Amino acid sequence: MTRQAAPGRLQVVTGPMFAGKSEELLRRVRRARLAGLTVEIINHALDERHGTRTVASHAGMSLPARAARDVDALRALAGRRPLDLLAIDEAQFFGPGLVPVVNELAAAGTTVVVAGLCIMLDGHPFEPLPELMALAEDVTKLTAVCTVCGADAAFHQRTVTGPHADANQAAAGLIGGAEAYQARCRRHFRPGE
Ligand SMILES: [Zn+2]
Repeated sequence: MTRQAAPGRLQVVTGPMFAGKSEELLRRVRRARLAGLTVEIINHALDERHGTRTVASHAGMSLPARAARDVDALRALAGRRPLDLLAIDEAQFFGPGLVPVVNELAAAGTTVVVAGLCIMLDGHPFEPLPELMALAEDVTKLTAVCTVCGADAAFHQRTVTGPHADANQAAAGLIGGAEAYQARCRRHFRPGE
């Protein structure tokens, strides 16, 4: 795995929904490809918003990606060839087991860019992103725009409740797009509703 003499880096791109995390991830991937680097994009297989073979931003940008069901599958995909840059989207779905894997990859010379939610629907931190933020060389914390007042939004909440609100999805943090969730500022965040 040691392609470069120097170790890689861990970069984290995080925030609530609608903050542009995937867009920022894809921007970095495009730059790396222009520079001639070897790049792989891995998404969690759970995110089927746009099909599992693509990482797409809400703004409409998309690039082909490989889908991994869990950390072991991610490790296997990442280990198939030496990578200069590994981009991981929807990282919150991989759970705490993601931390040692990205540490290993970075130590072996790969720059790992991890994008994912750092905040849950109830307003609490969403591991493993907070831990990854602590361990990273570089953290980009993005905010969205509050749908009520337009202020910086560090939270998101569900707008659809009732029989269609799946408890597992809610616990995981969310699958779905703009129709089911809204970005909210601290003043307008109502986690209980
Ligand atoms: Zn607001």
